[in-house]
Amino acid sequence: MLMRVRLPGGAITPAGIRAVAEVAERFGSGTVELTARANLQIRGLRPSDVRAAAAHLVGHGLADADPARDARRDVVGPPLAGHDPTELADIGALVTDVARHQVAAPGLEGLPPKFCVVIDGGGVASVRGVPADVAMGAVRTVEGGIVVQLELGRPLDDNDGSVACIPLAEVEPVVVAAARRCAQQGERMAELVERIGRAELLGSLTTGIAIRWASAPRPRVADAPIGAVAHARADQVNLGAAPLLGRTSPAALRSVAALVEVTNARVRCTPWRGIVLLGVARADQATAIAALARVGFSPDPADPTHLVSACVGLLGCASSRADTGRAARALLDAPGVLTGRIHLSGCEKRCGANAERVVVAADDGTFEIGAP
Ligand code: SF4
Repeated sequence: MLMRVRLPGGAITPAGIRAVAEVAERFGSGTVELTARANLQIRGLRPSDVRAAAAHLVGHGLADADPARDARRDVVGPPLAGHDPTELADIGALVTDVARHQVAAPGLEGLPPKFCVVIDGGGVASVRGVPADVAMGAVRTVEGGIVVQLELGRPLDDNDGSVACIPLAEVEPVVVAAARRCAQQGERMAELVERIGRAELLGSLTTGIAIRWASAPRPRVADAPIGAVAHARADQVNLGAAPLLGRTSPAALRSVAALVEVTNARVRCTPWRGIVLLGVARADQATAIAALARVGFSPDPADPTHLVSACVGLLGCASSRADTGRAARALLDAPGVLTGRIHLSGCEKRCGANAERVVVAADDGTFEIGAP
């Protein structure tokens, strides 16, 4: 079985990382995956161990004791929030609050399990391209104020027309209203949009809120934070790194936890299946980068492994037609083929795909990549 550890905004402590490593080691196959929603997944649990594994995670504050309520905690935020000199708004606390509200708000009992909220703060490492039921992103108005663009059932950057903007203070009520609507109908937001219509749905979820309209979306800035990224403080730096295909081990996770502590940094998972250490002293930068590389988290922005992602494939999914991991490695071994981000999917469901290019396995288990 698979156990998903939801981390609103990707935030986790060193103690939390160790707890995940322990569960993976004691109850799982030893593989831990970083996901496209900045969560962690523990693979290979026996059904008889799920209760004990869940209790361990709940005891460390990594999950709600009620699995149905826990499933509402999928809130993706910018991994550099609060540490990014380019962000328009530090929405780190807002992301946490929205997740807490989602768990506690009444009337959300029927919320579809994969319901996801994305909130972007307008800085680098933008999450505006991450698929969501409710997508929001801070932008600056022509008068210099900050408002939040709102999109339903698709990423913010998929909108090429007018985007509704709401005040920052209305983010939480709108998210809860949207979630309640999905819960009442038992449908994902994209299905509601299809059935009811985007404008009507938007109007009903923002009744009483003063909406502005932005004529064009903000350009997509979706580079994963890999290597050294500027910090809000000049004497510190953010360090991003990611393992091949987002797969790691308990031992590597423990090393990451120790590194976070020794550098006095904070850590978040990213929607690009990696991590970022926030606020590392510049004096520790080289040592920390070397330590990340040693445990399989590549901190090299030029490393082509960052261009390839894949669903679990035959390794852990009965629906897969292909060994996606093997195909991804073959792709990395073929010189000159990779020209941009690509995601390999074992079937049409496209789990965890957040690259611009998604290739689905053919019936014979092969992938048609085409010429570079
Ligand atoms: S995309 Fe298909 S094959 Fe891959 S994990 Fe999802 S259901 Fe399985």
